[in-house]
Parts: sequence; structure tokens; C-alpha cells
Amino acid sequence: MPPPVIMWFRQDLRLAGNAALSAAAVAGEVLPLYILDDETPGRWRMGGANRWWLHRSLEQLAGRIPLVLRKGPADQVLHEVLRETGATAVYFTRDYAPWSADLERRVKDGAEREGAICHRYGGYLLHEPEAIRNGQGEPYKVYTPFSRACFAAGEPKPLRPAPAIKWWSGSIPSDALGDWQLLPGNPNWAARFESQWQPGETGARRRLRDFIETGLQDYAGGRDFPARDVTSRLSPHLHFGEVSPAQCWLAVRAAAIGSNDAAAEKFLKEVLWRDFSWHLLHHFPHMPEQSFKPEYDGFPWRDDPVNLLAWQKGETGYPIVDAGMRELWATGTMHNRVRMIAASFLIKHLLIDWRHGARWFWDTLVDAGIASNSASWQWVAGSGADAAPYFRIFNPVLQGEKFDCRGAYVRKWLPELQAMPDEFIHQPWQAPHAALRAAGVELGRNYPHPVVDHGLARKRALAALKSLKGESS
Ligand code: FAD
Repeated sequence: MPPPVIMWFRQDLRLAGNAALSAAAVAGEVLPLYILDDETPGRWRMGGANRWWLHRSLEQLAGRIPLVLRKGPADQVLHEVLRETGATAVYFTRDYAPWSADLERRVKDGAEREGAICHRYGGYLLHEPEAIRNGQGEPYKVYTPFSRACFAAGEPKPLRPAPAIKWWSGSIPSDALGDWQLLPGNPNWAARFESQWQPGETGARRRLRDFIETGLQDYAGGRDFPARDVTSRLSPHLHFGEVSPAQCWLAVRAAAIGSNDAAAEKFLKEVLWRDFSWHLLHHFPHMPEQSFKPEYDGFPWRDDPVNLLAWQKGETGYPIVDAGMRELWATGTMHNRVRMIAASFLIKHLLIDWRHGARWFWDTLVDAGIASNSASWQWVAGSGADAAPYFRIFNPVLQGEKFDCRGAYVRKWLPELQAMPDEFIHQPWQAPHAALRAAGVELGRNYPHPVVDHGLARKRALAALKSLKGESS
């Protein structure tokens, strides 16, 4: 039996358009391996919703190929598998998390000690973070010139069909997926995820196709309206590499000839926000922990566990915020516009450190990603690169009225407000008693009073900002 080459699957859980796998297939019989490594990322081990997704995605993949599952620090596990099999090479897709460069170096050194060669491929991003530089040869800190540079760097190349793969004829022990306990126990908080999502490569392709057929044409005008189902919902599929950004890019470009051009351009720019977040994280790896603008680390955050819990549970009394937080809990996602409103509320209305919010999202989002999550939270906080100015404080009532004007989104996630008249749906505390009674709403009983007054919270946030050394509003 010839020794295999190892295909180390990571955030690239797909067979098509996977450069590392294609190269492995040409090199020999392929041993496909996935390693659950909870140790290397330290406190950034996968959160709960990510783990649910991973279980379902691996289940799909293991139904198609003889996938070997192992658990432990990835470099040590690879070392063991190299010894067990005598494999001659390890193929993998590059990952850009702050702990990955060291890990990949250890993997390479370990493989060489065993006489095997490591082959690393791109594909998780459209552009390698080092490849896009400004005129001074430095990384970009502002999105628009970054995206221009990306467009100028050229479109992804059409993908060659994958070669036939010969899986290794030998075998080694594999963990049982169920033993990893990635799915929630009792209570099963992910019960409703099952009908929302189809993790895995097949589901990713279907999502991309459905988006192109039904969402794309309204994407540019409709993507900010949470009740409209026009965004792609591809982010968890992209996160786990079940589809690559290049595959999305090429499919959307191909569909966009003619009438959908502007919509496609808008979509591609959003996909570039993902690349931009990774670009920032690669060059500023402290981003998940520290404010990008150091002066913000002196911000007078409030320690307020009661209101943090109200925010997490969707009980702030501001319907658009609460609807978003309940959508998140029920489905593992939240519409982008509402993510911004909910994050802004936590940071600016409650003056709670953005890191608490980012942590909650880390555990509850199926697309939770270290780059997009940190960059987006810092963007909202005003502490990030190219961030929204701190003094721009979203008014949750006006945001609700603008982007959910008849309250369809709020009614969907807050059934207790179902019968509220449109004019009060985003501010039930302003409704006359008779209207509340007619709608079956009793504030403080079946829907909370606002936890803070918007006007006062706004003043407090601006005062906190002024107190920052060197900042002025
Ligand atoms: P679409 O509108 O269809 O966009 C297509 C793709 O572009 C997305 O799938 C995503 O990969 C990328 N994209 C779109 N908007 C952004 C953005 N602002 N930043 C980075 N990439 C983007 N996205 C994550 O993937 N993981 C996160 O952990 C995450 N945390 C966030 C936290 C906050 C506070 C905010 C405001 C945004 C966060 N986002 C995150 C970005 C964005 O909300 C999601 O990518 C988007 O809602 C996913 O829905 P979609 O696939 O339908 O997006």
C-alpha cells in the first residue's frame, strides 16, 4: 500500500474549487483529515453556534469521503498521523487567524522532521493580505482605497475542474463525530437552526444559486431592510469554506451580465469587506482584544451586568434592538443593519465595552469569525480602522422607522408586539394607554420599559467621548 498524502481540512470544508485538495489529488492517494483544535486558539476556541455548524458540515463531508477525525493541538495531531501512515506530504489551505502563522510554521517544521513536505494554498480570501498594499507599500486602513486596489488587482481566475481523487486505501482510527459533543445538549438552543440552514458544500451551492435567482436583483436597494429576504446568507458557508469567495465572485459576475450589474457590484464590494477585515487582522493582530485606536482603550466603560443581560436576552425595551437579539438567539444570525443598531446600542446607549458584545456574538453567531467580528465591533465603536465616527449615535427608533417602517421585522421576532399600531411599533412607550391595551401590550409585564432614555444616553455617550484624552466631539 503506498503511503498517502494528507489533506488537512480546515476552514475549507468543500471538495470543489479547493486548490489544496486538487494538488493533493495529483500527488497521490489522499487521506482526508479534520482536526478539532480547541487548544491553539486559546480563548478564541470556536463558540457554541459555530460548533453546531461544524458538526453538521462535517457530517455532510464525512458522508461523501472517508474523513478521519482527530482532536488535539493540530501540529501534534498531524505529527502523530504522519508517523502512523508514513505520509509523504501535507496539503492545506492557509488560515489567517492570529495564532495560525505560528501553528503553520510548527506544522511545517514537524512534517519536515518526519521527511514529509508541506504545501500551503490560498483560497479562503480573494487576495492574500500581503498582496494588497498602498503606494507606500503599507497595509490599507481605509476600506474604499483597499477595495479599489482589489478591483485593480484583477478578477479571480475561473476555477479548473477538480481532478478525480483517489482516497487512501489504508485506514487509521478516527474519532466519532458525536463524541466531540459539538451539538448543544439540554436545552437544545439550536433546535430552530435546523430548519434555517443547510450546512455543507451542497447547501452552500444551493444558497448561492437561490441568492442569484431570487435576491441578487434587489440586493443593492434592499440589503438594508431586515424584513426583506435579499441578502445572500452565505456568511457561515464562507466562514467554513463550504464555498469560496472566488466561487461566489465568479457566479455572481456570470449572472450579472446586463440588468444585475449594479447589484453585483454592490455584492462584490460586500465580499471585499470580508477580505478587508482579514487584511486588517493580519496586519494588526491585536484587533480582537485591543482598540485599533489606542486612545479608546481609556474609554470610561460601565460595568453593567444587568443591562448586558437585558441586551443579550433582547429585553432592552427598544424593539429593533430586541428583535435583532431574538433573531440571533433563534437562528444564529442577525441581519447586518440590525447588527449595527444592536451593537451601537450596547456600546453607546449602555456604554458597555464592545468586547462584551463581540464575545456574545462569538458564541451565538453561526458565522462568528475573528476578523469580521472584531473589525465590525470596532467599526461601530468608533475605535476601529475606517470606523464610523463615535459621535454618530444611531437612534434606534429612527433606525427602526427607516429600515423597518411597518414593523414587519419587529413583529416577526417580538410576537408580543404583533398588534401594535405601525406608528408606535418602534416606540411602544409613546403609545396611549388605550392603544397599548388594544394591542395586548402591558409595558413592564409582557414587554419591557426602555432600559435607558435615548436622549439621556446620547448625552452621556458624548460626554464619555469628550473625556477621552486627545478626542474631541
Ligand atoms: P451579504 O450582504 O449577502 O454579503 C455577502 C458576504 O459579504 C457576506 O456573506 C460576508 O461574507 C461579506 N460581508 C458582508 N458585509 C460584511 C461586513 N460588514 N464585514 C465583513 N464581511 C461582510 N460577518 C461575519 O461573517 N462574521 C462575523 O462574525 C460578523 N460579525 C459582525 C458583527 C457586527 C457588530 C457587525 C455590524 C457585522 C458583523 N459581520 C460579521 C458582518 C455582516 O453583518 C455579515 O457578514 C452579514 O450580515 C452576513 O449576511 P449575508 O451573508 O446575508 O451578507
